[in-house]
Amino acid sequence: MSDEVRVWIEHNLCTGDGLCVQYAPDVFEFDDAGVAHVKSEPEGPLLTEVGASANVPASLRLDVIDAADGCPGNCIHVARIADGVEIAGPDA
Ligand code: SF4
Repeated sequence: MSDEVRVWIEHNLCTGDGLCVQYAPDVFEFDDAGVAHVKSEPEGPLLTEVGASANVPASLRLDVIDAADGCPGNCIHVARIADGVEIAGPDA
């Protein structure tokens, strides 16, 4: 089974501490209000809609999982694309 993953943030739980942005700045970025969002490409737009997810490049998968494991808001979800099973975050 492919281990490609996608990631999304429950924005209402984000504390704005910035751990995810430090771990994987090509995937996570703050908006002007200091809330983290995902993006599909390093220079791409922030995906600010509720539940919006971004596919994670294989090279960044471990960084994204580490961010989810350390997220103080426990609000980063990482799921396998193949079967939807969450492998990191509050529902893993
Ligand atoms: S690590 Fe979690 S709580 Fe912290 S900025 Fe990222 S999404 Fe928000």
